[in-house]
Amino acid sequence: MATAVAPRIFKNFINGEWVESRSGKAYENRNPANTDELVGMFASSTAEDADAAVDAAKEAYKSWRLVPAPKRAEILFRAAELLVQRKEQFSKDMTREMGKVLAETRGDVQEAIDMTYYMAGEGRRLFGQTTPSELPNKFAMSMRQSVGVCAMITPWNFPMAIPSWKIMPALISGNTVVIKPAQDTPLSVYNLVQVLTEAGVPRGVLNLVGGSGSTVGAALTENRDVPVVSFTGSTEVGRVISKTCAPDFKHCSLEMGGKNIIVVMDDANLDLAVDGAVWGGFGTTGQRCTAASRVAVHKSVYNEFVSRFVERVKSLKVGDGLDASTEMGPCINEAQLKTVMSYVEIGKNEGAKLLTGGNRLDGGVYAKGWFHEPTVFGDCRPNMRIAQEEIFGPVVCVIPIHDLEDAIDVANGVPYGLSASIYTRNVNRAFQATRDLYTGIVYVNAPTIGAETHLPFGGTKQTGNGHREAAIAAIDFFTEWKTVYIDYSDKLQRAQIDNN
Ligand code: NAP
Ligand code: MG
Repeated sequence: MATAVAPRIFKNFINGEWVESRSGKAYENRNPANTDELVGMFASSTAEDADAAVDAAKEAYKSWRLVPAPKRAEILFRAAELLVQRKEQFSKDMTREMGKVLAETRGDVQEAIDMTYYMAGEGRRLFGQTTPSELPNKFAMSMRQSVGVCAMITPWNFPMAIPSWKIMPALISGNTVVIKPAQDTPLSVYNLVQVLTEAGVPRGVLNLVGGSGSTVGAALTENRDVPVVSFTGSTEVGRVISKTCAPDFKHCSLEMGGKNIIVVMDDANLDLAVDGAVWGGFGTTGQRCTAASRVAVHKSVYNEFVSRFVERVKSLKVGDGLDASTEMGPCINEAQLKTVMSYVEIGKNEGAKLLTGGNRLDGGVYAKGWFHEPTVFGDCRPNMRIAQEEIFGPVVCVIPIHDLEDAIDVANGVPYGLSASIYTRNVNRAFQATRDLYTGIVYVNAPTIGAETHLPFGGTKQTGNGHREAAIAAIDFFTEWKTVYIDYSDKLQRAQIDNN
């Protein structure tokens, strides 16, 4: 059957032009809440497309690195203004391609706005240090220098925020960029690139190549002209990228999985803790790297907490994120839904107590989407697979704990280390937990989600490889230090030797 309107085809952006992939192929981007809705067709690129984008970025780097940072900042500032103007449209586009509710996609675009303004501000700082030399008539300082072409590979759960965390610090620092968005959410990156281009980012400085990770992503990470790779995604793919980057000593930043926890102590404000556990566990349908997929509850308030929590979870309204009354959207795609369903089976077989949910939502308004009930397992043991492995869906495990030491052992007893939270009104416990939780982020009396752009973001253990995104930490990743000594004594002065 012929359709009335041909679907729009979104091309690659290479060297300042929208160009078709050399493959001539495009893939479908569909709405996960209603798979009848085609959001658009996107270029399914080849390794040659990726290499062409790197060539363009390498050429553009020659002049972009010499543009004064405050001038680069003016472009970012204009881009932020455009994002503000188009926030509503971009948020709707994002809900259509990704499924999360409109309030959350507005938050995602806002995060890109915040990051863009913030990094624009950095254009007039990018501070180094000046410091006395140990020798007379000698000047010493350190300054940041750009590195070159940065390849960026991003996931689908924060379709504009995460790309902005990478693009903005890279650009303000004088680097050029090739980004490969997740196949599930290319439109949001297309929108971001469009805005930056309109704001005046010169030709070749920012390039977009769509398509699969195994083709385009791999080609970018293998390219010898790419000295910097910034990846956010699964630990499994991060490990592959790490190995690919190693032989050439590419700078490689990996932000990966999480198995985050909310600890609820016996003196917690239980209403607040329930609010936090609902938002932390089921916001973004649990598809956040910082999702609170574990809740550890002190045994003396366990029953009370669980009954209130389950009651709230049962009342969550699941549906199309564009509907203002919806509280939780679909899973991103069929594969993710199947992963969730398989973990529900694993949980049952391990002997966890299914307290609510546990099924795919099918039929009626759910018939055309990848919906799953918000699901809570109780009486979980910390070593169960559902309490150890990242599910990335609307499934929360509740684990009884005896005291703070027990809670910290449980919290730290997973392979990941992104975010952890504690609900307590005891200041001593709050500080002890803050000290002893081995994660990149700790919250007190707030859930595991809620990062702000001017603070470092990232995790320990298998969540990350020691770098941080956002804040000045991002500038640290996208620059290298250059230390400069200027000797104006007109004679040879030997450090450590002539200084007595
Ligand atoms: P993913 O499967 O690892 O994919 C992430 C990106 O890598 C996608 O663009 C993907 O392309 C690409 N990719 C896949 N294989 C590749 C390869 N061999 N070489 C280069 N690139 C490759 O992760 P996801 O399913 O999109 O996202 C969920 C994961 O991201 C979760 O584990 C979550 O915890 C993590 N995450 C972490 C953070 C953080 O900051 N720590 C933030 C958000 C998400 P395709 O589009 O073709 O798959
Ligand atoms: Mg994937």
